Amino acid sequence: MPPLLRLVFICTVFLLTSFLLAAHPSTSATVLLLLRPAAVFDGETQHPGWVVLVENDRIRAVGPAARITAPAGARTLDLPGLTLLPGLIEGHSHLLLHPYNETPWNDQVLLESEALRVGRATVHARATLAAGFTTARDLGTEGAGYADVGLKQAIEQGIIPGPRLLVATRALVATGSYGPKLSTDVDVPQGAQEADGVDGVIRAVREQIGKGADIIKVYADYRWGLNEPSSATFSQDELNLIVKTANSAGRPVVAHASTPEGIRRATLAGVQTIEHGDNGTADVFKLMKQRGVALCPTVAAGDAIAQYRGWHKGQDPGPERIRQKRESMKLARQSGVQFAIGGDVGVFTHGDNVREAELLVREYGFTPLDVLRGFTSGNARIFQLPDRGRILPGLLADLIAVAGDPTQDVAALRQVKLVLKGGVEVK
Ligand SMILES: [Zn+2]
Repeated sequence: MPPLLRLVFICTVFLLTSFLLAAHPSTSATVLLLLRPAAVFDGETQHPGWVVLVENDRIRAVGPAARITAPAGARTLDLPGLTLLPGLIEGHSHLLLHPYNETPWNDQVLLESEALRVGRATVHARATLAAGFTTARDLGTEGAGYADVGLKQAIEQGIIPGPRLLVATRALVATGSYGPKLSTDVDVPQGAQEADGVDGVIRAVREQIGKGADIIKVYADYRWGLNEPSSATFSQDELNLIVKTANSAGRPVVAHASTPEGIRRATLAGVQTIEHGDNGTADVFKLMKQRGVALCPTVAAGDAIAQYRGWHKGQDPGPERIRQKRESMKLARQSGVQFAIGGDVGVFTHGDNVREAELLVREYGFTPLDVLRGFTSGNARIFQLPDRGRILPGLLADLIAVAGDPTQDVAALRQVKLVLKGGVEVK
């Protein structure tokens, strides 16, 4: 076809298509929903007497009831006695794990098939959403390969209910540093991907991103031997490269780290968050604050594991590990480091995510407002999710309603009466 004729042909097709589209506009009607709770917690502050107008999957308006009237065709939902707040954001979950007092971690990794683990994970995803968590950072499949990517797709396609997921896939460990560890004579599948050296870590990061990782997770320290304390694993150069490679693809890196040296290296490399931080010192928390690295303290995981190992909470004073955690959390709070909120749920029961907030309030000196902001606007800011975590016009209509006032008593978060995800009532 000569060039001029081809141009005329293309223009004709374009005009004809435009005409047909204009003649048949989209038939999907606008869905409007006015929510009238007793109060709105907007991610920062409690506002008694406010209402929220939802249009399709977004928040259209929020403010005092007198200022916002229901447009024609809007459905009104009265929520007397309830507080409406942004859908909660879990900072640290493992949907492919279940509590270690049911099955030890080693056995989950080595003996349970991926099909069995995925089957459970679908139930875990549903429980998480029903508990009011409309987003979760899922930080590693622990031996279940890339199953989290498929799980996320199943949720996005509406096949199973669950939160919006940010997945880390396999996570990265230095060779020899992770588990399970059996006899030296057998090599068993590991709970994360081993990678070492310049070429090795770059390749592994790219491989995970290519298969669907939203986040790269590294273990900056771990127990090299079965019965020894954690030590640093990756070198500073390796960590720097991991962060550089992930960031250049637009993915953040998060680091499991509990030792001062592991925390220090990961922070200098530029990770987004440190997970656990159990043995952190005033110096490393200060460095984290300087570099804008947040701490996700996961107090609920340590609390659960100590009880699985025989701690009779309420009767015994608590093992050394718990005492140490209380000490380091004091230092962390004094340093002014920002906190992401996440419990490492999977170590304990999915759907019981609020346990982290309750422990932070009852045992670590946080206020209910601290943890509420943390689970909503705080996590959204730290995880760079500007479309959620607050109740503002234009943001996703991920909203929950709970009985009572959670800014006074955090246990109100256990009384979830309504969950909207993208404007759709899922509970
Ligand atoms: Zn974890």
